[in-house]
Parts: sequence; C-alpha cells; structure tokens
Amino acid sequence: MKLRIAIQKSGRLHDDSIKLLKECGIDINNGVNKLKTEASNFPLEVFFLRDDDIPQYVEDGVADIGIVGENVIIEKGRTVSIAEKLGFGKCRLSLAVPKTVEYNGVQDMDKLRIATSYPVILQQFLDEHKISAEIHEISGSVEIAPGIGLADAICDLVSSGSTLFMNGLKEVQVILKSEAALISNSSLTPEQDALLQKLLFRIQAVKKAKN
Ligand code: ATP
Ligand code: ZN
Repeated sequence: MKLRIAIQKSGRLHDDSIKLLKECGIDINNGVNKLKTEASNFPLEVFFLRDDDIPQYVEDGVADIGIVGENVIIEKGRTVSIAEKLGFGKCRLSLAVPKTVEYNGVQDMDKLRIATSYPVILQQFLDEHKISAEIHEISGSVEIAPGIGLADAICDLVSSGSTLFMNGLKEVQVILKSEAALISNSSLTPEQDALLQKLLFRIQAVKKAKN
C-alpha cells in the first residue's frame, strides 16, 4: 500500500512542495512533464496536478493527501481535513482599487464591479459586511481588469504588492490570509493514516529545525 499525494504540477507551490518532501528524507525522481512518480524510499506516490483540482481529488479519494493553498481549499468548499499548515506560499487575498481612488472602508465597494478569481470567498466577505457589489469572475490576469474598464476594483492574491503597483492599483483591504497546507481525505484507512502520521512527524521535525 502506498499513500498518494497530490501536489501542484507547476507554479508557485511546486518547488517548495518538492523541497519539503526532500527535507523529509523522501527521494522522488521528478521528471519533467510527468503526471505521477513514486518515492524510492517511502511508500508514497506523487500526482502532479493543477492546484485548483487538488481539493476535489483529495475529497474524492483519488489522492489521499495533497498540498494546496488555504485560499483554494476555502474557495472550492470541499470537505477535506487540514493536517498541517506548511509555512510557505504565504499570501493574502485582498481588495485593490486604482491608486487614484479614495478608499474609506468596505462600504465604498457598494454597487461597484469587482473582478476576481475567488467569487465564493469574496461573496461571503461582502455578505458579512452587507455590501452588494457585482462580482465578475475571471480566471487570470485579474489585475488588468480596472485598466481595461472591466471592473472598478479587484479581489486578488497579493504577496509583495509589486503586481498591483505595476498595474496602478493599491491594496486597500485584506480579506483572507493564506499559506500552503497539507490536506487529507476525511476517511483514510488506518494504514493510510499511519503513513500520514509518519509523514507529519517528519514535517514537524523539519519545521522545528527551521525555527
Ligand atoms: P495552476 O496552474 O496550478 O492552476 P495557478 O496559476 O492557479 O496554478 P499559482 O499562481 O502558481 O497558481 O499560485 C498557487 C498558489 O500560490 C496560490 O493559490 C496561493 O496559495 C499561493 N501564492 C502565494 N503568493 C502568491 C501570489 N503573490 N499570487 C498568487 N498566488 C500566490
Ligand atoms: Zn490554479
């Protein structure tokens, strides 16, 4: 029996996910363009997927565990357990407006058009603040939406803020803070859970060594 882990195929979480497994002493031969691979010294099978698909694969039990941003876990609303926060992939989901626009608080978003790839989290935030805005869901390059007249504001992931700055935008409100997390299927078998615990023990040791 092998534990199956889903990690991002390419993108911001890929390298750190591989690095974490390596630091846990797990050797995987990570060939280019491979969809899956196996560890040579741990009963682990690694699937390379788009990050958006990872919560569903873990919920469905196609993978037993996965590494994905908390932002994606929440947006997808899948029922998975968060086994451990991993300390990388740190970012925030924030509202941003053109830098010339005055912002005095969330109420300023009322009646505006907001472009985002995170409609679920944004809608929940707006509902909590009793704001009605028009959400325009777009899958990428959200930061160009105000410049091309598609939206008045955006809700997007930010880390340094340089992308916003380059597009003449300013961050005005943090909606969610996020980092990468190890998620697991909610009904692992005892054997799978034992392997997960073994992996978690190593991850925690790696984290401790860094502090
Ligand atoms: P995929 O091709 O797998 O769908 P993607 O383009 O959706 O990739 P990436 O841009 O690689 O995703 O981001 C993956 C995750 O990295 C995000 O969901 C988030 O958790 C985290 N992240 C950290 N900093 C940032 C940032 N500045 N912008 C976007 N994502 C960030
Ligand atoms: Zn994605």
